[in-house]
Amino acid sequence: MHRIPLTLPLLALPLAAQAEAPHVVTDLPAVHSLVSQVMGELGAPELLLGAGASAHSYQLRPSQARSLQSADLVFWIGPEMTPWLERTLNSLGEGATQVALIDREGTTLREFAEEEDEHHEEDEHDHGTIDPHAWLDPTNAQHWLGVIAGALSQQDPENRPTYEVNAQKAAAAIAALDAQLTADLAMAQDTPFIVFHDAYGYFTSHFGLQNAGSVALGDAAAPGVARISALRQTLEDSGAACAFPEAQHDPKQMELLIEGTSVRLGGALDPSGSSLEPGPALYGQLLEKMSETLIACLSAR
Ligand SMILES: [Zn+2]
Repeated sequence: MHRIPLTLPLLALPLAAQAEAPHVVTDLPAVHSLVSQVMGELGAPELLLGAGASAHSYQLRPSQARSLQSADLVFWIGPEMTPWLERTLNSLGEGATQVALIDREGTTLREFAEEEDEHHEEDEHDHGTIDPHAWLDPTNAQHWLGVIAGALSQQDPENRPTYEVNAQKAAAAIAALDAQLTADLAMAQDTPFIVFHDAYGYFTSHFGLQNAGSVALGDAAAPGVARISALRQTLEDSGAACAFPEAQHDPKQMELLIEGTSVRLGGALDPSGSSLEPGPALYGQLLEKMSETLIACLSAR
């Protein structure tokens, strides 16, 4: 019976053959969160836009540029969202695969509510009128989990079953959260409000909310008196009950704008999740927090 020792190398084989998880880089905290959920225990993706970073205008650190050069896979929203990332991605070697999520078939796309978004224009956001803030529609996030699992499985076929199961679980959790938020937000559906920049169309159209416009004042210069009074007129005409400033932007401009009107100042919204702890839970927290912040002001009397 000499067969028994022969099985030992075979037993050791599965461990030795286990491929290392791919080196994955992501752009925004929301994308990082979705990819983290799909990778699960197999590995952790890198996040380019950490705490407090402004999504539309950013400069890669040299260490981040190097990390991108050695990436197997890059998941990002697309050039409409982060034009600063496009050139680096185009220069990547053949070994790297980049997945621009808004370009993937099955993604629900919408155009900007306003013809010209000055905030985006100011940030050299000149890639047409497609609104890139598409992760704020939870049905897109659910769809992308499958896209992410597919791309990871191509790089790492051995772990395909894990990626697929993780993606299905994550999609089911988002569907449950979606149902809960739909119920929570129902009471806010008839109350118009104003936001800081035109980033919320996917969220407001999915949940049937009355986004009456964005002030789009930009960050650089203080707006002039004429501009303020024109915006104030627009605000009065819209019948907005609340005005919501945005994380990473000074709420002063919004305060100045609503001064002397009956519009209430809401809490700061954080569409990219830049103020939350990055990780698998971030995506759900981002939607929950946005919903809570909207309800806190819109339900006040
Ligand atoms: Zn934006």
